[in-house]
Amino acid sequence: MTQEELFKVLVAHCKEYGFIFPSSEIYDGLAAVYDYGQMGVELKNNIKQYWWNAMTRLNENIVGIDSCIFMHPRIWEASGHVGAFNDPLIDNKDSKKRYRADVLIEDYLGKIEEKIAKEVAKGRKRFGDSFDEAQFRATNPNVLREQAKYDEVHARYVKAEQASDFAEYRQIIIDCGIVCPISGTCNWTDVRQFNLMFSTSMGSTSEGANTIYLRPETAQGIFVNYLNVQKTGRMKLPFGIAQIGKAFRNEIVARQFIFRMREFEQMEMQFFIKPGTELEWFKNWKEKRMAWHVNLGMGAENYRFHDHEKLAHYANAATDIEFQFPFGFKELEGIHSRTDFDLGNHQKFSGKKIQYFDPETGESFVPYVIETSIGVDRTVLAVLSHAYKEERLEGGDTRVVLSIPPALAPVKAAVMPLVKKDGLPEVAQQIMDDLKYDFNCQYDEKDSIGKRYRRQDAIGTPYCITVDHDTLEDRCVTVRDRDTMTQERIPIAELRAMIDRRVNLNTLLRNL
Ligand code: ATP
Repeated sequence: MTQEELFKVLVAHCKEYGFIFPSSEIYDGLAAVYDYGQMGVELKNNIKQYWWNAMTRLNENIVGIDSCIFMHPRIWEASGHVGAFNDPLIDNKDSKKRYRADVLIEDYLGKIEEKIAKEVAKGRKRFGDSFDEAQFRATNPNVLREQAKYDEVHARYVKAEQASDFAEYRQIIIDCGIVCPISGTCNWTDVRQFNLMFSTSMGSTSEGANTIYLRPETAQGIFVNYLNVQKTGRMKLPFGIAQIGKAFRNEIVARQFIFRMREFEQMEMQFFIKPGTELEWFKNWKEKRMAWHVNLGMGAENYRFHDHEKLAHYANAATDIEFQFPFGFKELEGIHSRTDFDLGNHQKFSGKKIQYFDPETGESFVPYVIETSIGVDRTVLAVLSHAYKEERLEGGDTRVVLSIPPALAPVKAAVMPLVKKDGLPEVAQQIMDDLKYDFNCQYDEKDSIGKRYRRQDAIGTPYCITVDHDTLEDRCVTVRDRDTMTQERIPIAELRAMIDRRVNLNTLLRNL
């Protein structure tokens, strides 16, 4: 199966098993808006809890807030979103399809990178242990040719980006022969700018109404509450404020399922520091955030940093943590050193003094900020796309299994009586009643035990607990492990401790 086919299968699987549904489906859906079903919401909540506890419990100097989606419209002027939160758009005149010009160029560069990686992999296979990658890259004619092409386009792109030169974006697209995937032609319009914020009006009548925006990021809710939290919490620098919440962007090219949505959720933390210490803290948060991701056990090789070449005018360092999605390495989280841009601008626009008084030096100043910003939905997609596996079993059977990190799995254990009689359901129900306070469990007595195992594999349940006739005598149950499919006899009295060892979120947090 190609990665593209695998991705389609994953999307269908997410719907079939109650993880993610297209929004308003009975009305034919709403583009780039998705609902989480009964399994999806559990997975999402577990991810949010992992992040929230890692931020607010493991760091004594980070507290959380929950600010509103609606905010004073001036906030978005101060933050720069009214003036500059734009995407460069380009339309194909034949297919009438619209694209982000920067994404077209980045995808083109990504394809060249893939070609080079393939050549390198071929070389490694051919030369075996004696393979010297650096030498291969420096001498192989195919790699050299592709690398030269990459370097040339990349240099033009960075220059155009820095100068916001949209005519040059179009020229790069044309010079590289980038075609519309639908029409296959290179018949492009000029590049135009498009603001991504959704607006609505507040007030009871449309006359007197004020235009307000649905927040495109949660961060500004933190900045405008900086003084409240610092004062009421008696916080001393350095300290952080964390928030999880919905954000809205009128994304033009909404593709790739929940990777790019118009309504999505962010987990953001703004860390307030003394000016001059930002590069040290930037490095520190880069390491901490990467450790949080890798700790999920989905393979360190599936993550990488992508340092920004073009920095926003207010930032003095920025990087993305990228994950290897089925459609390539793409941004999962952004880490930005934002200087005093946001607080400084809110001070200017609101006319209120937003400063920190340092009791040690007696000085007052506007703190600098390091931001970590991760998408909940992109994390859900990373987990699901990594977890999905189709396995061929001994005897020719196949199974679909979601190897979700156990602490994030929607259901931790399924309790099943082998048959629906002889007092087995009653014992199974007692086990359910005992475990349900600690874990999200499912009771299932329908169909053969094999079918029930498959259903649980498909939603990623780490343990299946089967009650059989022997249970009535020995008070033991059979526990089947999702990943190894091995079965073990365990006393009922030890069940809770056994499950807890593997699925407890705290175990994950302790490893950080
Ligand atoms: P991109 O370049 O992919 O549009 P961005 O750089 O605009 O993303 P940020 O503004 O840094 O993204 O937002 C922080 C995080 O929020 C991203 O790393 C991503 O995980 C998430 N995010 C941003 N836009 C979307 C979206 N439309 N749908 C889902 N998640 C999103």
